[in-house]
Amino acid sequence: MNILVINAGSSSLKFQLYNMDNEEVLAKGKVERIGMETAILSYDPAERQGIREVAEVLEHTTAIQKVLGMLMHKDHGVLSSMKEIDAVGHRVVHGGESFSSSVIVNEEVKREIRRLFDLAPLHNPAHLLGIQAVENNMPDVPQVVVFDTAFHQTMPPKSYLYPIPMVLYKKHQIRRYGFHGTSHAYVSERAAALIQKPFDKLKIVTCHIGNGASCAAILNGRSVDTSMGMTPLEGLMMGTRSGDIDPAIVPFAMGKEELTLNEVNSMLNKHSGLMAISGISGDMREIVRAMEAGDRNATLAFEMYEYRLRKYIGAYAAAMNGLDLLVFTAGVGENSAELREALCRNLTFLGLELDEHANVQRSDAERVISTKESRIQVMVIPTNEELVIARDTHRLILAREEDVV
Ligand code: ADP
Repeated sequence: MNILVINAGSSSLKFQLYNMDNEEVLAKGKVERIGMETAILSYDPAERQGIREVAEVLEHTTAIQKVLGMLMHKDHGVLSSMKEIDAVGHRVVHGGESFSSSVIVNEEVKREIRRLFDLAPLHNPAHLLGIQAVENNMPDVPQVVVFDTAFHQTMPPKSYLYPIPMVLYKKHQIRRYGFHGTSHAYVSERAAALIQKPFDKLKIVTCHIGNGASCAAILNGRSVDTSMGMTPLEGLMMGTRSGDIDPAIVPFAMGKEELTLNEVNSMLNKHSGLMAISGISGDMREIVRAMEAGDRNATLAFEMYEYRLRKYIGAYAAAMNGLDLLVFTAGVGENSAELREALCRNLTFLGLELDEHANVQRSDAERVISTKESRIQVMVIPTNEELVIARDTHRLILAREEDVV
């Protein structure tokens, strides 16, 4: 069974085509600058030369047409007909309280994704455009949606409610939802499997730290807390996002600097975090480089980033009354030995002992980076959200076929 995985943004659309018989990626690519006459198409099949092309792509339906065109290209294609795509799986950022697992798309599901536009105004509208674009091009192909929020729907009310008037939750669903759920679920399960411990008997903290960053407390196989909140702004300090701040700063800064709501939103999402403190970049690679060259602001940015993450790890160990496994993933988590080292150096009180040699080994592999004696195992697990989407899609489509039979 071939499954096309799609991550549709407002002006971009990323895709991967999986052969689910062996979970091989047959091809992947993206369409960028959708809405422009000069959109950029890129396509990389597994064993053939890729395609780079500039074309007019004014909306998502055309983007999908172009993707299909590349997948079936006479020289570079990996499919001979559209019929070889059995199902499409989409990443959807916000599933609100309606979705605690992946589902097959139908009219009701689409209505619900639309109802959640308010909670994810930058993401959900684009995802729905992606779903409709597939419908327009491949009306008979079943589609599945996989939500970033779903894994965290197991959080208890004491984790997901904010201590503000209940009417805001009841009327407007203001609560913690959490994000990166697909990734937290995948890396925690992989980590438990690799060390051959039962997933449902472990206390795990997962750190998904890329451009966006969040950590999660996973107790006996279920997410019980996570650092992102109603939106992906809460929690850890990130590349350009502030993470936690005193909420009273918002009206205060708006008054002092005469900022509009849009401006303050943009300040906290795009001009804060590592970027704001270092004055150099939101990219951890550049921060580490500048720090090594002696830049004080970069050093402060790194220290704040590490300190804030460490406090969350400590909080989650307390939330679960223990910690067995600490997992790092995403761009910074998988690659920054410096950050992992700085963190673990200050977590020895928990009985955590980093294997410094294993930590600095360059590798794309899943690996343990704690010593044999360490009371807490520390692992690096490269995330693979697309594979989870492909697997969920595969599973739901197979189950539906069995039902029909
Ligand atoms: P996204 O959240 O956009 O999916 P990624 O998970 O790909 O992002 O993470 C991107 C970030 O990972 C970059 O901004 C960069 O800071 C960081 N990163 C990538 N490689 C390294 C590295 N070798 N050392 C430190 N940080 C890195």
